[in-house]
Amino acid sequence: VLRLENVHKNFGESPVLQGVDLAVAEHEVVALIGASGSGKSTLLRCVNLLEQIDDGRIWLRDDDISDPRVSVDTVRARIGVVFQQFNLFPHIRVLDNVTLAARRVLKTPRAEAEATALALLERVGLADKAHEFPDRLSGGQQQRVAIVRAVATSPELLLLDEITSALDPQLVTEVLDLVRELKNEGTTIVMATHEMAFARDIADRVVFLDAGRIAEEGTAAQIFGDPQHERTRAFLSRYL
Ligand code: ATP
Ligand code: MG
Repeated sequence: VLRLENVHKNFGESPVLQGVDLAVAEHEVVALIGASGSGKSTLLRCVNLLEQIDDGRIWLRDDDISDPRVSVDTVRARIGVVFQQFNLFPHIRVLDNVTLAARRVLKTPRAEAEATALALLERVGLADKAHEFPDRLSGGQQQRVAIVRAVATSPELLLLDEITSALDPQLVTEVLDLVRELKNEGTTIVMATHEMAFARDIADRVVFLDAGRIAEEGTAAQIFGDPQHERTRAFLSRYL
């Protein structure tokens, strides 16, 4: 579904991604781990075209989305994204948040978009919040709405960047349960996370990013149970 080839990204003089190669298969869940500043968010932002890469290529299926001529809106409609916080538009109601992309970008008729949105909200137990403004919801509820919004357009790929790190601990579970459900439905997911227990539990593959390079990758059992690289061991030891 997604392939990064030799991706480089610099901010001014500082190299942030230094030749990342990564392929994500259909239905695969990949967890990106690594120290703060290692480039996890930048990598996700490059895939979603929030940042332009300096070298390399990014493929979404057969489309080279790193080609500057590509339509950014079309690519973004194919990729769902949820960030750490401030995901929802505060000035519009939950239902409008969820239907916005379908209506604006995919030109789905309002009634159809709303029916889809309500069914999704129902599934996550938030149908009764459809007509509320986001600030009336708890952080966990807001993140579940953000995830619902991200999948409302049936994207080919879902990117999650530290979606639980701004939440109170008691709200984390409800959000992670939803991600697990999406995985079980076959959603292709790339997620940056500091939740090692969750990564271990849900990820098909764990990728350890160190200073903008993939230092090591493998199954969760390999990376957490028997890390090969010195830097991986040093990083993981801080979580034990
Ligand atoms: P964290 O775990 O803290 O979220 P991260 O792995 O997501 O960290 P990034 O946010 O990708 O790390 O940042 C990687 C590096 O790029 C950092 O050194 C950061 O300061 C730098 N950086 C990120 N965004 C910008 C920007 N817009 N301009 C300049 N430097 C940036
Ligand atoms: Mg980050």
